[in-house]
Amino acid sequence: MSGARARSPRAAPSPRPLPTPTVRGAQGGERAWSPPGVHVLAKPTGAICNLGCSYCFFLDKESLYEGDRFRMSDEMLETYIRSLIEAHRTPQVTVAWQGGEPTMMGLAFYRKAMALQERYRKPGMTFLNTMQTNGTLLTDEWCEFLAEHDFLVGISIDGPRELHDAFRVNKRGKGTFDDVMRGLRLLQKHGVEYNVLTTVNRVNGDHPLEVYAFLRDEARTDWMQFIPVVERVDAHGAPADLRGSYASERSVGPEQFGAFLTTVFDEWVRHDVGRLYVQTFEAAARNWAGMAQSGMCVFNETCGLGLALEHNGDLYSCDHFVDPEYLVGNIGEHSIEDLVASRQQYRFGQDKRDSLPRYCLDCDVRFACHGECPKNRFGMTPDGEPGLNYLCAGFKDFFHHVDVPMKIMVELMRRGLAASEVMGVLAREGQPLVDRWNAAAAAAGDRPLAAGDEPDLLPVGLGVPRAPVTERGRRAAGRTRRQDAGSDAG
Ligand code: SF4
Ligand code: SF4
Repeated sequence: MSGARARSPRAAPSPRPLPTPTVRGAQGGERAWSPPGVHVLAKPTGAICNLGCSYCFFLDKESLYEGDRFRMSDEMLETYIRSLIEAHRTPQVTVAWQGGEPTMMGLAFYRKAMALQERYRKPGMTFLNTMQTNGTLLTDEWCEFLAEHDFLVGISIDGPRELHDAFRVNKRGKGTFDDVMRGLRLLQKHGVEYNVLTTVNRVNGDHPLEVYAFLRDEARTDWMQFIPVVERVDAHGAPADLRGSYASERSVGPEQFGAFLTTVFDEWVRHDVGRLYVQTFEAAARNWAGMAQSGMCVFNETCGLGLALEHNGDLYSCDHFVDPEYLVGNIGEHSIEDLVASRQQYRFGQDKRDSLPRYCLDCDVRFACHGECPKNRFGMTPDGEPGLNYLCAGFKDFFHHVDVPMKIMVELMRRGLAASEVMGVLAREGQPLVDRWNAAAAAAGDRPLAAGDEPDLLPVGLGVPRAPVTERGRRAAGRTRRQDAGSDAG
């Protein structure tokens, strides 16, 4: 299927920066916007972690608060829960715990958090607590607590032992695979809902099928996300966070990441649709279907509703922008609602769209990519304009590659059929189907495809809607909905 030219069904005109609007807030003050909810990643231990993963960009963040104990106080915890609830006009509030390593706060801290949620809960309000952990400190007692309070746990695993241990090491440099798998098995034993987060780096990036098969068959997850490792460094290779113009040697390469995604996609689209959820593919399908939100902030047109809270109450524009320049304020002094509604935060989210280089504005897969995350935009376009995403080449390859299967899935769903039917369609029709579609797209030239341009995609027998997926798929779909409720809606 490679070489397919993707065509945006929504070739939008070039966006231009808009003036910041002003709305009146509940307390009468002026606000740049008034979102009904917000996603805050709380880091009660700041950047502190019990491991020493080589590529962890959080480790540098310790220097932001030199000499600090990196523990959220009980007073700050109460301020946080109260303010987070006040910032929501939605029936469900996601409370996201992250780090560093959030389990280092100990169970007593989270028991207090549960009690505070009850104390400040508005009538009818429910909570979804999520936790991203390396899993190494989990115990039976931890997992009983997580199950009792219906936590959704994200566990970080980079693949089978030799790939995971390449960078995920403890403070003594020893691989952590066994410790993480022990934590995962405990989650499974106690029936805790979990996802797997895999960072794709220079080493495991060359082994997409090995990683995918491991996560599916051995980690037995049905919901996975792949996050590219992009560490910015200066010309000498020293960490330079948001100001580096180069990628470190550990970072995944642009084409390497594209090949990783396309290889996993080909396996998924032939065998696992509706059974396993891969966040990047879900987001792509939503963008192909023209939905307002992809479910992943990086693939949305704008962002700004996913902020990061440090242990001392400092609220930053995003977890990827924990930097003095992007400090929005402290929740001990201002409500979360006011900080989110500030012009600074609004502009931060709109700049994701407004700062795109011309090359992206003209890109045929901008509707799916949107220039990805601004953190990774330290490349140069072919005509010398700064601000191109470092991973651009990989995204272009990937989005072009998935174009036809995505269109098939969207068409299936439009007809009330299950997207998983795509597996049968591709198995029966294969490359000739893709070729027919591409020929129609090429014949249409630059104009959008119209009815009649497109080949008959679906075999005649496919006309009866049916229950889409296995029990495993239904569970994962439910998790996607829960995760969406908690992801950056920006
Ligand atoms: S897209 Fe925006 S909200 Fe998402 S990670 Fe990047 S900067 Fe943060
Ligand atoms: S980063 Fe590359 S693939 Fe993404 S919108 Fe820009 S030009 Fe297109």
